[in-house]
Amino acid sequence: EENINEQKAENAIKHQGFLGSKPLVEFKGVTKRFGDTCVMDEMDLQMREDDRLVIIGPSGSGKSTLLRVLMGLEPIDKGEIHFDSKPYVSVDSKGRTQTDLATRSKVGMVFQHYTLFPHLSVLGNMTLSPVKVHGMGRSEAEDRAREYLGRLGMEDKLNSYPGKLSGGQKQRVAIARALMLEPKLMLFDEVTSALDPEMVAEIEKVMLDLAKQKMAMMIVTHDMYFAKKIATESVFIAGGKVVEKCDPEIMFNEPKEERTKDFLNKVL
Ligand code: ADP
Ligand code: MG
Repeated sequence: EENINEQKAENAIKHQGFLGSKPLVEFKGVTKRFGDTCVMDEMDLQMREDDRLVIIGPSGSGKSTLLRVLMGLEPIDKGEIHFDSKPYVSVDSKGRTQTDLATRSKVGMVFQHYTLFPHLSVLGNMTLSPVKVHGMGRSEAEDRAREYLGRLGMEDKLNSYPGKLSGGQKQRVAIARALMLEPKLMLFDEVTSALDPEMVAEIEKVMLDLAKQKMAMMIVTHDMYFAKKIATESVFIAGGKVVEKCDPEIMFNEPKEERTKDFLNKVL
């Protein structure tokens, strides 16, 4: 708690321009369409290295798409994304999306519905992609899997199959798996929405612990109380554009834009 509040105080100072901090993610004029639906309309969005950015917006406003694009899971139609001040996602002259794969491995993502492979043990789930896709040695991958599971209090589940785990345990494994390649940025898309209420707090605690370790995060959540607690920055998106981006204290207490006020009045 205290640590988080200290970081928030630091962040408030940064907003006043006393400290510099580097951009980690920059969307530059990104357009994304699904057929006739324009989900991102020349969108610009920046996130700093030490931010935990909460993304809010109406259902269907493109929050998941934004995260999926940043994870390299969806092509874009126009614009580019820089990561760590280097080109990451762009569109070539033939309209094909180009994604820098080394950069993509610096981004981890956790989804609403646990995406664990049911036929693999927890250890198998965690080591599959590091070993098969990223060429990590098996014993290194297994050591690392043990370490991350330990940090999340799950070391005794190493050989369990997903079917034997609770929803909260599955999400913890999904988070541990996303940490295996030591990402610089973690994306969370409504990771507690499908959980029973008593498991929500356990996953939020894991996210708050990551925040204490200064992990950069983009978080989509319906839990506005948690959003306020974890965020250093917040953005409201609608109609394919960033409507408002500001300190969460301002977003949740005195938003400037009418569309933000309307939305928050409905959900708070
Ligand atoms: P949110 O997460 O904010 O609810 P999404 O990013 O899931 O919004 O969706 C934004 C819009 O894009 C919605 O209109 C949705 O129907 C559409 N959409 C998302 N994914 C696809 C897809 N794979 N094919 C077609 N339309 C899609
Ligand atoms: Mg969504």
